[in-house]
Amino acid sequence: MKYDVAVIGAGLAGLSLSRQLLLNTDKSILLVEKRAEVPTPRQKVGESLVQVAGYYYGKVLELEEYLFRQHYMKYNLRFYWKSAERDNRGFEDYCQAYIRTFSNIPCYQLDRNKLEAELLRLNRQSSRFTFCAPATNLEVELQEQGPHSLRCETGNDTVSARIDWVVDTSGRSKVLARDLDLEQTNAIRHGSTFLWVDGLVDIDRLSELSSRERRMSPDRASTGHLPIWLATNHFMGEGFWFWVIPLQGLTSLGLVYDQDLVPRDEVATPEKLIDWVCKQFPLFARDLPERKILDHGSYKSFSYGCARTIHPSGWALSGESGRFADPLYSPGSDFISLHNTMIVDAIMTGDPADLAAKCQMYEHLMRGYYESLIPTFATSYDALGEQETFVLKYTWELSVYFAFFVFPFINDLLIDRRFAAAFLSRFSRLGQVNRNLQTYISDYYQWKKSHGSAPADPQFHDFTALGPLRTAESTFYRVGLSFEEARDVLDEQLESLEELARFIAVYVDSVVLGNVEILHSRSHVEGIDLQSLTFDPDKLKETHAECDADKEQYPWSFDPSVLQHLGGTGTPAAASAGRPAAIEEER
Ligand SMILES: Cc1cc2nc3c(=O)[nH]c(=O)nc-3n(C[C@H](O)[C@H](O)[C@H](O)COP(=O)(O)OP(=O)(O)OC[C@H]3O[C@@H](n4cnc5c(N)ncnc54)[C@H](O)[C@@H]3O)c2cc1C
Repeated sequence: MKYDVAVIGAGLAGLSLSRQLLLNTDKSILLVEKRAEVPTPRQKVGESLVQVAGYYYGKVLELEEYLFRQHYMKYNLRFYWKSAERDNRGFEDYCQAYIRTFSNIPCYQLDRNKLEAELLRLNRQSSRFTFCAPATNLEVELQEQGPHSLRCETGNDTVSARIDWVVDTSGRSKVLARDLDLEQTNAIRHGSTFLWVDGLVDIDRLSELSSRERRMSPDRASTGHLPIWLATNHFMGEGFWFWVIPLQGLTSLGLVYDQDLVPRDEVATPEKLIDWVCKQFPLFARDLPERKILDHGSYKSFSYGCARTIHPSGWALSGESGRFADPLYSPGSDFISLHNTMIVDAIMTGDPADLAAKCQMYEHLMRGYYESLIPTFATSYDALGEQETFVLKYTWELSVYFAFFVFPFINDLLIDRRFAAAFLSRFSRLGQVNRNLQTYISDYYQWKKSHGSAPADPQFHDFTALGPLRTAESTFYRVGLSFEEARDVLDEQLESLEELARFIAVYVDSVVLGNVEILHSRSHVEGIDLQSLTFDPDKLKETHAECDADKEQYPWSFDPSVLQHLGGTGTPAAASAGRPAAIEEER
């Protein structure tokens, strides 16, 4: 038999790619899956989407109505830390950071098995789609030119096919990466244990307070009334986070941890994990020990790279068969969305020279995206342990994400070669800044452990308080642009991100020096070199003494005082750590 495309593996990546090909091309597809039961009833991680994947599944794959009907719409990502002077047995004891309003690009909490069943059902409606499962003894022979060949057995039959494109979506089986010797390691050494429990774990109700007290709590002035359980809720500590994700009728729970900071032995089984989490975050002791565990799984070390993921001779890798960095902020399905979109475009490209140029560009883009995330996860995971340092880290990362991941994706710009070249030159400028900033934030976190103190009482922070994040989010509404306009948007965003990076550095300096005035000092702000930023409190004190007399104000384009309530040492709020001033006035 002859097919245009063979897809190996009917998980999220393979089923989505098949649907995208069926919707956008006239290609015939052979989807080969080793399991008999698709999807399996087992827990699959990859349940929470952020904007790129939310857009991809809702709009590009045209599943919006289905997603709203069968899955929860996600209420952003929310983060929690213990308060130093509370017993942390109730939700009201925890510091919180969040975005209070829903994202204008809807994101979803996915029951992966339900979604995969629906994708398979839809794909099967097309006469161009052939599904082969369970497939055993799979053999793929790639050719430099001309059709590749694929052979496998299913039941008593042997399937032999010639194909133009082979796309490996076999997940951690990494069929092609292993065959072609493409596997790579990276600097991330993180593990995970996860489980499903029966019913909804509503963290808002894990409380000492009565229902009425919770409804009338003054904290609502900050947090509002939307159901907090609809978020991906993250309970944070140094080098780890514990997720709580609602699925319909059950809750997904999972710990991701740096192996150097959390002993695997203590969290390797669901029972041990529940015990550990209840000690770390006592509010869970009200609930988790009584829950019925429906399923569970774990990874000792889940992160890896790949030398190459697309080749003009007609092969590509998508999903976990290629690279996987870390699940914090849920980039897994984003990478599936990005990769699949580039792969579909490559498959549709007939001219060999054009295809070679595109594959080179796509390889650069996907490697660039992956590498940009490595410092985020390998360098500053310790900074998850404290609200203020994490607010600095995440505001930066989310702003980069909105401007440099979401904006190009929702405009189909990454498959425009002219734009992609302009994008890469600007994105690479951010690379060094990001690496320096991640180290700076981690060093600051370590410094704070001996110089700062954790907030006594709960603090509330909305990430959008910092102007550059709002500026980055405004790109959601910049659509249908010409190449020149899109390039200008990137330039504006780059400038805004550099201002944010500068602010983060100066904010940290102001805390270290115990002097809020330097946040406004023009010479101090302009003296910061983002390309060679290092955290050195002694040198900072010397430098500051030199420019102490400077009274000229730096013209920030946003309000630089919005983090004062987080009470870093030396800021005015430090002595009386509490909620934002505006909220106090409202009471
Ligand atoms: C701890 C953790 C948490 C995560 N949380 C999130 C999250 O919240 N959001 C998110 O977006 N991402 C998340 N991810 C990432 C997400 O899990 C992956 O992006 C996603 O599951 C990858 O899907 P896939 O289709 O590549 O692989 P899979 O879903 O594993 O599918 C691979 C398929 O290939 C089949 N297969 C394997 N070998 C063969 C073979 N030889 N022949 C034929 N078929 C074969 C398998 O049976 C399977 O059906 C998380 C990852 C981890 C590790």
